[in-house]
Amino acid sequence: MNRAKRESIASITCATCDSLCCRLTVILGKDDSVPAHLTTHQVGGLHVMAKDQDGWCAALDGKQMKCRIYSSRPIVCKSFAMGGPYCRAERDEHAKQSTRLIAMKLIGETSHDGNKAH
Ligand code: SF4
Ligand code: SF4
Repeated sequence: MNRAKRESIASITCATCDSLCCRLTVILGKDDSVPAHLTTHQVGGLHVMAKDQDGWCAALDGKQMKCRIYSSRPIVCKSFAMGGPYCRAERDEHAKQSTRLIAMKLIGETSHDGNKAH
């Protein structure tokens, strides 16, 4: 791994992240022990963590952006590495979406004379 990549990974921290990985589908296994009301079964029968209406995991404390079942979180969550490839992929995708939203806002903004800019 080159130095630039090491530095870019080192700058990643959950403390300044919107818990993006907690929006992913978390598949539960037989060794997981999660309160049943925080889980659901998908149409095909897959047992997964339930999500709230905004798409975050039902176990996430939305105010503090912290896992409310941290010590007994699913194995998938325990193995999700901060700064690892999946973490970086989620952060990159989120950054791209944010950029797209800003661009859309600029296109739709009102011009100085009060008319929509085209
Ligand atoms: S592991 Fe990565 S994606 Fe998940 S909260 Fe931490 S920085 Fe964000
Ligand atoms: S169980 Fe905890 S760590 Fe896992 S996705 Fe839900 S809130 Fe995030």
